[in-house]
Amino acid sequence: MGLRRILTDKEPSLHKVCRPVEKFDWRLHKLLDDMVETMLDANGVGLAAPQVGILRRVVVVDTGEGILELVNPTLIETSGEQVGAEGCLSVPGKYGLVKRPYYAKVRAQDRHGEWFEAEGEELIGRCFCHELDHLDGIVYTEVMERFLTEDELMADDE
Ligand code: ZN
Repeated sequence: MGLRRILTDKEPSLHKVCRPVEKFDWRLHKLLDDMVETMLDANGVGLAAPQVGILRRVVVVDTGEGILELVNPTLIETSGEQVGAEGCLSVPGKYGLVKRPYYAKVRAQDRHGEWFEAEGEELIGRCFCHELDHLDGIVYTEVMERFLTEDELMADDE
């Protein structure tokens, strides 16, 4: 089993700047496999390594069109703006109103160290920004406008 425990934002790991990955070895591959399994098990759209207690620059994202593994990712382009509900596996049961770029493009390495670019709008753009923030120790609650109320969440479901 490769499920890892997801830390909450009360734990120090969520608030530290992560170091770059230097070795693209079996340990990284195991981490990525475990992170994907953990993200899918928790029905998340993204998971960053510090959320499982590993302070390295590694992110996995489920774009809806497949799983994306981002190692040492950086934002290279953003445009537009969106304000919407955002949640985090490390802040269970809550959602906040967060302003993000509408479009985001990242440059990252794959599990073998090859560089590539990935881009997306709406949920994917939001997800890239949210997950990359984690690598710098930033949880969305630190950049949100406010938490959404239960009534607002119910209205969103309609
Ligand atoms: Zn998160």
